[in-house]
Amino acid sequence: MKILGELYAGKAKTVLRTDDPDALVLRFRDDATAFDGVKHARLPGKGTVNNKVNAFVMERLERGGIPTHFIRLLSDHESLVRRLDMIPVECVVRNLAAGSLCKRLGVEEGRELDPPVFEFFLKNDELHDPMINESHIRTFRWATEEEVARMKALTLQANAILKPLFQEAGLLLVDYKLEFGRFHGQVLLGDEFTPDGCRLWDAESRRKLDKDLFRHDLGDLMQAYHEVAHRLGVPL
Ligand code: ADP
Ligand code: UDP
Repeated sequence: MKILGELYAGKAKTVLRTDDPDALVLRFRDDATAFDGVKHARLPGKGTVNNKVNAFVMERLERGGIPTHFIRLLSDHESLVRRLDMIPVECVVRNLAAGSLCKRLGVEEGRELDPPVFEFFLKNDELHDPMINESHIRTFRWATEEEVARMKALTLQANAILKPLFQEAGLLLVDYKLEFGRFHGQVLLGDEFTPDGCRLWDAESRRKLDKDLFRHDLGDLMQAYHEVAHRLGVPL
């Protein structure tokens, strides 16, 4: 497999073409961003931790019956994935109240959400990823009804695999965002699952171990990400 040119560079990853038209390389960079890219920093080692934690979680999801784009690790900071036609919708599941849900609904942070809340957001930085519903997705043809149902089912199915996985590592999976794409008529989980796109709290103290540390200057992000990897048993 040969790596060809850059397809696009996102805020934290660069996507590269390969000589296989069905495969891409995700290069996890050391960039940390928040507030749609307004806040930015370079944190040496972040790309490697995220690449390895993502590989670990994607493999667990795949084993649990979630079809993913992940093929294999290529290097410390690169993974080989299937090339997807990305659906521009973010699927969020919340087990505990945090972030935008608290602001929007005036709910206290940390309140248990039973059943978990499911939300769709439009992936659009200029519009600040607005919350959308199934009606918007249908009318604007961002995805078919079948794809919407599949994304929702897979995102909730992932919760049943991930909540106990993190619980065993002494971590509460507060909320997370998943992105999906099309691959030869199938809907596959794409993008990444890392502490950049979820909230993880220590189960005892509720200390934050995710990107909120960077968003709100609450502590050392790299130390927290290393701790997450260590607790999951991911070798770095
Ligand atoms: P952002 O787009 O939020 O700045 P990243 O820096 O993570 O995010 O960029 C990665 C980009 O690659 C995202 O736009 C994501 O939707 C896209 N992507 C992730 N996985 C795949 C895939 N398997 N095929 C095609 N594109 C992908
Ligand atoms: N999230 C993400 N990318 C986004 C928006 C949200 O990864 O563009 C994740 C975020 O890290 C959290 C969950 O989705 O785990 C819910 O985020 P929320 O709606 O609370 O937004 P935020 O407070 O992060 O703006």
